[in-house]
Amino acid sequence: MSGSIPKVLLHDHLDGGLRVDTVLELATAVLPTPSPVELTDWFDQEGVHSLERYLNAFGLTVSAMQTTGNLERISYESAADLAADGVVYAELRFAPSLATEEGLRIEDVLVAIDAGLDRAESETGIRTAIIVDAMRQMSDSEEVVAAALRTNLQRVVGFDLAGPEAGYPPTLHQRACDLALQGGLGLTIHAGEGDGVASIEAALQSGAQRIGHGVRIIEDCQVIDGKITDLSTVATQVRDRQIALELCPTSNRHTLGIAPSEHPIDLLYRAGFLVTVSTDNRLMSRTSMTREFALLADTFGWVREDFLAVTENALGAAFAAPGVVMSILENQVRPGYAAAT
Ligand SMILES: [Zn+2]
Repeated sequence: MSGSIPKVLLHDHLDGGLRVDTVLELATAVLPTPSPVELTDWFDQEGVHSLERYLNAFGLTVSAMQTTGNLERISYESAADLAADGVVYAELRFAPSLATEEGLRIEDVLVAIDAGLDRAESETGIRTAIIVDAMRQMSDSEEVVAAALRTNLQRVVGFDLAGPEAGYPPTLHQRACDLALQGGLGLTIHAGEGDGVASIEAALQSGAQRIGHGVRIIEDCQVIDGKITDLSTVATQVRDRQIALELCPTSNRHTLGIAPSEHPIDLLYRAGFLVTVSTDNRLMSRTSMTREFALLADTFGWVREDFLAVTENALGAAFAAPGVVMSILENQVRPGYAAAT
C-alpha cells in the first residue's frame, strides 16, 4: 500500500538525492569506482558510521553540481524520481553556496534548480518548492538569503540552516533568519540531530517554524513503559506550538546509529507532536518515501490512517501558499488515501 498512496516530503537534500548514473557521468571529483553497483554501495551509509565517508560522499555529488546545465538536470531527475515514488508535493533543499566553486552566482544556482523542477512539474504533475540552505559553519548566510529574495522565484519558499550544530549556534545567523522571515520565507533549522535539546531550543529562539530532524527532543520527554508520560519545557513548547518535526528514520540510523525500533517517531506521534516523515538523503541512505513508510509499517504497525495523518501534518506545515496546499490536500491526498486499499 505504501507505494501507491500520495506522499508529501518536506526534508530532502538535492545534493543527497542524485542518481548514481548521473554522478558517474557528471562528477568532477575522483570517483572511488567506475562501477554503478559498487558506487551505489559506496554511497550507502548503512553500517559505515564514518563522518569522513559521509562528507566525501557529498564532495562527490557537489562536484557534479557546478554548472547550470548539471543543476537543471539533477533537479529535474530528483523531482521526477520523487514523482515516480508517489510524492505529490516536495520541498527540495540545497545550499547554493556549495555550487559556486566554478563561478556561478547564488542566483544562477537557484534559477537553474527552478528550471529543472519546472520541467519535472510539467512532465509529471508533482508540485515542488525550494528551501534555500546556508551552512552553519560558513559566514555567508545573510548574502544567501538576500540573493534568494532577489531572484523573486515563486518556488523559493523557505530558508534553512544546515551543517554542524555544535559550535555554530543559529544566533550566528540571526540576521539571515530575520531577513528570511521578513522576506516572507518559511524558516526551518536543522537541530536536535547532531546536538541535543539546547540546540532545538536555540533554533526556536531564532524563529524556526519547523525543526529539521529534532529527533533528540525525546531527551526532553519522560518515557515510561513505552509511552511519553511527561514533557520538560522545550518538548512542551514543541508539542503545544505544534512545531513540525521533519523526522528521517533511516538517516538517523546511519548518522546516529538509532535502530528503527528505537526511533522515537512513534512515541512522539502518539504523544501529539506534529510528526512528519522525510528522506533526508535518498542516495546516501538508499531510501525513498515508500521505503520510509514501509519501515514505519513494519516496525510500528502504522496503517493508512497513520500515513494520512503524517501526510496531512506535512501539508499543514508546508511553506507553499495556502491555496496550493489546500488544492493538493483536497484533489490528491484525500482522494488518494480514500482509494487506497
Ligand atoms: Zn537534512
